[in-house]
Amino acid sequence: MALIKPRTANIKGLNEVGRYAVGVQWIDGHDSIFPLENLRRGCPCEKCGGAVEGEIAPASQRLRALSRLGEAAVFIAWTDGHETILTMNQLRALCRCAYCVAEPERPITG
Ligand SMILES: [Zn+2]
Ligand SMILES: [Zn+2]
Repeated sequence: MALIKPRTANIKGLNEVGRYAVGVQWIDGHDSIFPLENLRRGCPCEKCGGAVEGEIAPASQRLRALSRLGEAAVFIAWTDGHETILTMNQLRALCRCAYCVAEPERPITG
């Protein structure tokens, strides 16, 4: 069986974890848990710019919808009406687990 390069950031699973987090199972075997607040702060849309500062209203960090956009991206709709589209690479870059944070090749923001 061929090994998949770690750079291939694709997911095999996406699910809600309780009310405040999203779990992602990556094709390379990695598991991530993303608190919803972190996902909202990392929203890369033009308005948010991947760096939402300060307090985030409760409605802005609650899920209305969560789905995959094909193989390339994840779509998140928030209860305040905002929508976030994260590519798999952007999503992976938001993982704050010890393994990802220690990986020197990945830019760490925030
Ligand atoms: Zn946004
Ligand atoms: Zn990680």
